Amino acid sequence: MTDVNTEAPRPKVLLVGMDGLRYDRLTRSPAHAPVLHALMATGAVGTSLLPYGRADDEPSTGTAYTDSGPGWSSVLTGVWPDRHGVTGNDFKGADYARYPDFLTRAARARPGLRTVAAVSWPALVRRGTLGRTIGRRVRHNGESRGYETADRRVARTALRWLTTSDPDVVFVYFGATDEAGHDTGPLSPAYDRALLAQDGHLGRLLAAIGARASDPGRAEEHWTVLVTTDHGHLDSGGHGGDSRAEREVFVVLAEPGGPARPAGTRLDTPRLVDIAPTVLDRLGIPVDPAWGLQGRVLPGPTAPTSEWS
Ligand SMILES: [Zn+2]
Repeated sequence: MTDVNTEAPRPKVLLVGMDGLRYDRLTRSPAHAPVLHALMATGAVGTSLLPYGRADDEPSTGTAYTDSGPGWSSVLTGVWPDRHGVTGNDFKGADYARYPDFLTRAARARPGLRTVAAVSWPALVRRGTLGRTIGRRVRHNGESRGYETADRRVARTALRWLTTSDPDVVFVYFGATDEAGHDTGPLSPAYDRALLAQDGHLGRLLAAIGARASDPGRAEEHWTVLVTTDHGHLDSGGHGGDSRAEREVFVVLAEPGGPARPAGTRLDTPRLVDIAPTVLDRLGIPVDPAWGLQGRVLPGPTAPTSEWS
């Protein structure tokens, strides 16, 4: 490691993906997601609609498709399906060689960086959405075991990394919300339960990050935490169409331990493709225009390092 400087804040990023999580169900009441509500209160949050080839969408981005393959590809690569090529869950046409995920980009830009990913949707590893350059890629199979069980194992894996090692870039994927959405719809008690479970997983990961701050050897870490989803759900359950309920996505951006933002700070229409450039920015990795990323860097608190100097 040549880039370790014990004097300077060491940037680190956790991105938590919650599949098919509808923003209105998340924000309905703090009781349904206390951890996320607290994170939104100290950080920032905003929503946007996945582009769907409409007149009011950005002209160059085409259609984003409200399915998981294209959604997580857009989140992880920072480009829309017109570039990464994934338009469905068959992953046909994927061009991850040209548009790799941001963990891969980070690992290539800084070979000493520790990149880790744990997911309960195994396709994200099997199909190469998360590339081989990533230091650790762990999949627990939600398709065969059920997502409640697989998510719990994903959380346990990520918790172990955060407590016993020093990852720099962490991606965690939970799928129980989407599974419940398909089974009984996003208005159902099962969906609420899945959300609450994922919220609890997130809480344990944030507690582990908080505990790192009180460790003298790790006190210089400066964490950025992002939470997002890939698409919404119809009231009746299901997605893949162009309704607002399916197209609405959200991004939560917080920097635990950093300066708090005014409560209820809004991000201005954060898009899924904004996440990858934002992560790279926080890591101090300049985005090369040749990469062709279509997102923008989401703003941080006004003085991100003031409490760390
Ligand atoms: Zn999905």
